[in-house]
Amino acid sequence: MSTIPTILTIDVGTTSTRAIIFNKDGTEFAKHQIEYRTSANSTALDKNMPIFSHEGIAITETDDLEFERPKDNPITLIFPNPGWVECNPVNILANCLICVAACLVKLAKRNKQNAARGEPTHEIKTIGIANMRETSILWSKKTGLPLYNGIVWNDTRTSGIVDDVGASHTKEELEDARNKCGLPPATYFSASKIKWLVENNEEIKLLYENPTNDDCLMFGTVDTWLVYNLTRERSYITDITNASRTGLMNLDTKHYDESLFKLWGIDSSRIMFPEIRSSSEFFGTFKIPNLKKFNFNTRLTETAFNDLKKYLKGVSISGILGDQSSSMVGQLVLQRGSAKCTYGTGAFLLYNTGNKKMISSHGTLTTFAYWFANLKGSEGEPCYALEGSIAVAGSIVNYLRDNLKFIDAAADVGPLATRVPDSSGVVFVPAFSGLYSPYWIQTRGNIFGLTQFTNSSHIARAAIEGVCFQVKAILQAMAEDAVDDQDDDRSIEEEMKDLTMTTVTPISDDPEETALPLKNLSVDGGMSNSKEVMQIQADILGPSVTINQAISAECTAFGAAIAAGFGFADEDERIWRNFDDLTNTIATGMSATDKLVSYKCEEAFESRKKKWRLWEKAVERSK
Ligand code: ADP
Repeated sequence: MSTIPTILTIDVGTTSTRAIIFNKDGTEFAKHQIEYRTSANSTALDKNMPIFSHEGIAITETDDLEFERPKDNPITLIFPNPGWVECNPVNILANCLICVAACLVKLAKRNKQNAARGEPTHEIKTIGIANMRETSILWSKKTGLPLYNGIVWNDTRTSGIVDDVGASHTKEELEDARNKCGLPPATYFSASKIKWLVENNEEIKLLYENPTNDDCLMFGTVDTWLVYNLTRERSYITDITNASRTGLMNLDTKHYDESLFKLWGIDSSRIMFPEIRSSSEFFGTFKIPNLKKFNFNTRLTETAFNDLKKYLKGVSISGILGDQSSSMVGQLVLQRGSAKCTYGTGAFLLYNTGNKKMISSHGTLTTFAYWFANLKGSEGEPCYALEGSIAVAGSIVNYLRDNLKFIDAAADVGPLATRVPDSSGVVFVPAFSGLYSPYWIQTRGNIFGLTQFTNSSHIARAAIEGVCFQVKAILQAMAEDAVDDQDDDRSIEEEMKDLTMTTVTPISDDPEETALPLKNLSVDGGMSNSKEVMQIQADILGPSVTINQAISAECTAFGAAIAAGFGFADEDERIWRNFDDLTNTIATGMSATDKLVSYKCEEAFESRKKKWRLWEKAVERSK
């Protein structure tokens, strides 16, 4: 009897890890998520610490616990000093295994029922991975053990290194680097994190200075770390979307570039770097990691281990996407001129520029969006995006909840912020990790305009607005880039029309708003679950842009499933053969019109304008 094909995805986010088994039509078959427990105390990877102690698998036998909140989970996210954010790579791996095993328990149970009824059983055809980008891990080739915690993308400890790189190079040299890698020097990307590690950790420094055939440093972003371990060290690779966030890859050659290593003062002959591949191809075959090496004490039940062996034996890993690319793909933002914004811990707006590498002169980043190398024709070409990154989005909600104690749960922020009609002149610049796109200012957070009248609702509203103003600033920067990018022989109107596929009609009184480069913004991520927050965003963007909430809450994981589905096997056997096949198949599982929620500006022009000017002033004063 034929089996029902499914795809397993692992999605390692900044605050949680989840595994989801997707059906071919895009619906979820099984899901398990572990929210990270955090700590402020641990300063470095403690090798003697029991790595992982967990009983999650037993619980999932009941099927009803699909989300584990931090109780006695291992500590995975660490804030050792102000501005420092680290993750424990071994616990990330353990979280993945637990989540996968939990999904498999469910699969096994369902298969047993189906077999008893004489119905087809489910089979995992392939595995996809989506991961937080830029987070940097160094481990020993000899032992396979990390030598320090992973330094997470929003960590700002390297601001001194970044300043030095800026000060010790000419404007031309910095511009040249920007043209090559698409990124400005910033704490955000991997390069400065690697530099910090080789300068500040004694063990790493020693290995950097004395690499041998037997032992040397291996670098990886989270995708590389996972694939290396989930293939028992057979595959040492990364995908192009992750590599383009290291600051060390040349966007034209798709290889590491010596001049970029030189810029950061990193000797590339002293560290191993993973081979850069497309997002969809055969990356390796799943093997249960060597748990002894990691001193794992997962307490996975024997059944769970057997399920891992039974259902994943010989299964390929064939899709990898950095999380923001993954949610773009998961939202089917596959057309040039379309865009998405994910409001997770940070917010990330990616604007699909197709096969055109546009270098921004207005503060957005150039990055690879995806590369489905196995597909035919233009669908198999690498696709670029302009990206606007906002370091603090959902994390401001956590801050209002955990630090200021304004709310009990994240979902309370929308109602609190809309208890007042406006922020009453309060402006919150949520720059806990500095301001990223389009400003790139190394600063701290600021609250302006407090009066005796100010209450928690005004501050919460101003905090939300602070995130939404940055989204508007990013879209304006992208509009300016689109205009700058015109070919000599083409008019601005032609260029804009081609790029945006939008007829720019004057529906706002504000020329800045009508110039925004798109009509629809697809949104997803935790914060987009709040209708109040999304309405505030719509009001700030003005009437030119409609916000459409993603149909699926799990776009990021689904993007990785799509990459894996495209990367798997020969064309005939593939889960989806091309974009049309994908959209037609998933239309049967998800009904777009049923679930689409849209938001449109309801606020008057004058008050929109006034608030925007106040925001701009506050950014100026934050410098
Ligand atoms: P990540 O993938 O970066 O870990 P998620 O997409 O899971 O992030 O989103 C988590 C963030 O979304 C948290 O910071 C949380 O505070 C915020 N969030 C979750 N639900 C809501 C809500 N209903 N309203 C506002 N913010 C929310």
